Amino acid sequence: MRKILITALILLPLSAQPTFRGFSGSTRKLVEWERRLRSIPEPGRVGTSLRKISLEPHHAGSPASKQVAEYTLGLMREWGLDAKIEVFEALLPYPTSRHLEMVSPARYTARLQEPAIPQDADSSDTNQLPTYNAYSGSGDVTAPIVYVNYGIPEDYAYLDKQGVNVKGKIVIARYGKSWRGTKAKVAQERGAAGCLIYSDPRDDGYFQGDTYPKGAFRPPDGVQRGSVMDMPVSVGDPLSPGWASEPGSRRLRREEATTIMKIPVLPISYRDAQPLLENLEGAVVPEGWRGALPLTYHLGPGPATVRLQVESDWSTRPLYNVIATIPGSEFRDQWIIYGNHHDAWVNGAQDPSSGAAALLETARALAQLRSQGWQPKRTIKLALWDGEEFGLVGSTEWVEKHLEELKNKAAVYINSDSNGRGEFRAGGSPVLESFVREVIRDIDYPGGGISVLDRLLSNRQQSADRDTDFRLGPLGAGSDYVAFVHHAGVASLNLGFSGTDSGGIYHSIYDSFDWYKRFGDPDFLFGKALAQLVGTAILRLADADVLPFDPSSLAKAVRRNVNDLAKQTHHQVDLSGVLSVLTSLENNGARYEHTLRIALENRPPESTRLLNLNRTLLGMERALTTEGGLPGRPWYKHLYSAPGLYTGYGAKTLPGVREAVESKNWEQAQVQAGALAAALSTFDKCVRNSIQQLNTNVP
Ligand SMILES: [Zn+2]
Repeated sequence: MRKILITALILLPLSAQPTFRGFSGSTRKLVEWERRLRSIPEPGRVGTSLRKISLEPHHAGSPASKQVAEYTLGLMREWGLDAKIEVFEALLPYPTSRHLEMVSPARYTARLQEPAIPQDADSSDTNQLPTYNAYSGSGDVTAPIVYVNYGIPEDYAYLDKQGVNVKGKIVIARYGKSWRGTKAKVAQERGAAGCLIYSDPRDDGYFQGDTYPKGAFRPPDGVQRGSVMDMPVSVGDPLSPGWASEPGSRRLRREEATTIMKIPVLPISYRDAQPLLENLEGAVVPEGWRGALPLTYHLGPGPATVRLQVESDWSTRPLYNVIATIPGSEFRDQWIIYGNHHDAWVNGAQDPSSGAAALLETARALAQLRSQGWQPKRTIKLALWDGEEFGLVGSTEWVEKHLEELKNKAAVYINSDSNGRGEFRAGGSPVLESFVREVIRDIDYPGGGISVLDRLLSNRQQSADRDTDFRLGPLGAGSDYVAFVHHAGVASLNLGFSGTDSGGIYHSIYDSFDWYKRFGDPDFLFGKALAQLVGTAILRLADADVLPFDPSSLAKAVRRNVNDLAKQTHHQVDLSGVLSVLTSLENNGARYEHTLRIALENRPPESTRLLNLNRTLLGMERALTTEGGLPGRPWYKHLYSAPGLYTGYGAKTLPGVREAVESKNWEQAQVQAGALAAALSTFDKCVRNSIQQLNTNVP
């Protein structure tokens, strides 16, 4: 194999040899360090730390969560990294009582309990957090129920047409399509008295495949826990929106918090949902609303009438973020940050231990390189966040605490979370698209004899997808990158493998080591691949002479989205300001590419000039943010993407303009188009400054 490779390299014309964006001169040393780095991660070690982290239920605020933080801190220190724990505090409600009972026309008391399974050692652990939705309102309500499908705004529009009103009723929505918090929010806005969210077997259960423990899919009593914080408005501790919550710091009263639900919300299993749905009458639901339970789905309301009672212990509890720092030699004040959360709803073998274990292998590889004499030019920070499941709390409080420093120093934030067998998936800031493409070109896909990039491209060619090149999807609100990209304006990435590992254990007690060993990533090869991939990305980001941002990709991404938006504006919004700055940006983006190539081919740029150039580049992503934030949600400051107000996890691109257009608020759309044009213009100026700073290096 090796011989063939060398021959191939010699035969390749110079232009076809691997490029390393942002590097000048010989890349021989880089290639050697990378080779060493990628030889370090071991599947066995991924498995060992995954087992340790997922050994006991370790939800945020629990003693076990602190123990996991201390375990990872110990490992990092053992490897010689300078690591510490930063403590925050946040409102983390735990359930104290939950009751769901059908009072008529038949009686049924819901179990609200996931039973232990003999084949799964962890399923009988003590200290499991009961099934609940964090930040549900407390309350005790009795009302007829209405089936609302996925509980998205379009579903309510259909109910309106059918003359079904949910005011004062308890709605029952199925998981899927939108983020769970959005289901609760829409129900509340519609005047519902309560909200039940269940996993229908069609989307998450026996319709998908054999259920656990026979197969990977959700068993009848499995329940998806999760937060219903209003995350599209702001994330982090609901009592300290926009500032860090530490022992002794200022807090809102609970009644003042805007991201906590007011109505009771409870997640239930399909076993508990079935008797309720069986006792609904009213119109038969349209085909797209039908799940896979053995019954005819009706809209209601009633006659099924239920009593729903939820109460929480609204305590403020500690959070333990683990942070390791590798100081940079040349650009000490430019930070490359990589994080993954360590807290779980229960044992969390897949979510988040699979990602956390890969991060630990990346950390070990970087530490080992250091002991061999490597020193990064930029400062690297590795983070294991606490409180992600409640609403990205640990990472958000950390960003809010260090906001000014991050705005000055953070160059790139990389995030990972659940990882397993499947395809490579990447979301992120468009300026990093070319960079990520180069990284995955050089990473072997597990067991495939093919690079991660080639695998991705060949999959695309086989599919009907006409867009065959690699693209980064826009970032919504799925994991800990949110405060970095949407609040602080740091160029960010979210990376991982998934797909083949899909199953039905998400946020349940069955997300266990036994499940993961059978269905997640049995040989931990995808854990190793993620460690290699992110390690390589960090090495290149930390050592590049010039930060490897590509403004052209941003211009292209905005162009695609503006074209798409223009079709929806019905000539009500004048986008000419956006279009003219976009044209300038496209030209300058191309000029930047050209100038960068020539500058780096000639000679390594002189160091003070490099420092200034990198400082300019570091501010580039920030240019896409606006101080006042998005309409109605000032915490979200990024104008390229945001979680949709009514889609939750799912991202909206150009959210300011798009959401105004979608709600036909033309006046607001026009104001937002102005804000977008202004941000793009600042970005464009950044690109022009970079060209100027590069030009001084061209002889
Ligand atoms: Zn997670």
